[in-house]
Amino acid sequence: RIPLIGLTGGIGSGKTTVSDLLAKLGAGIVDTDLIAHQITAPHGAAISAIEKHFGSDFIAADGSLDREKMRTLVFKDPEARKSLEAITHPLIRSETIRQTSNLERDGVQYMVFVVPLLLESGSWMTLIDLLVVVDCPEETQIQRVMQRSNLPREDVERILMVQASRAERLKHADVVIENQGSLKDLEVEVQNLHQKILQI
Ligand code: ATP
Repeated sequence: RIPLIGLTGGIGSGKTTVSDLLAKLGAGIVDTDLIAHQITAPHGAAISAIEKHFGSDFIAADGSLDREKMRTLVFKDPEARKSLEAITHPLIRSETIRQTSNLERDGVQYMVFVVPLLLESGSWMTLIDLLVVVDCPEETQIQRVMQRSNLPREDVERILMVQASRAERLKHADVVIENQGSLKDLEVEVQNLHQKILQI
């Protein structure tokens, strides 16, 4: 079978930028964050189960998940978080498998699963051949996300606080992609990673 690569990193570390570069080199990409958004978009696959469990208060007028409301709830209520994950994780998993078989059929050289919370959701670890962590200083993460998403500093810091720590991520990494330099520097790192994966 083809190599299965996990790609993780904190918010704004550069996961999407790295996966875009790998896609150009021949990787099949499945972005689990994107899938999580799709299943909670209007009439997404998770909506009816979420409405049934949490009530219609959590569904916005357009039929999508009220993200703000759900974020507030799961932030203070771990049981609610578990219930939400019990609904979404199996759907994310089956969609990941579906997209993977399609990409394999298309003849990709290897698969890259972009999983923002890879370390927080442990079961992924057993499936993959190589865990790649995109890393940069926290201050760089903060600056990038403030700029990209037009968020105040406090909001970005709050997100950083609930994610796995930088040290924790690095501890599990098979390969670290340093993304504190220019995009040109990053391209060189990604090219090296690509060669390494082809040797698996
Ligand atoms: P998120 O977790 O929020 O989805 P991410 O880890 O996918 O973020 P990206 O979206 O790839 O991160 O990058 C965050 C922002 O920083 C983007 O606007 C991207 O263009 C920019 N960026 C990434 N790497 C660099 C770099 N080396 N130099 C300059 N800008 C960069």
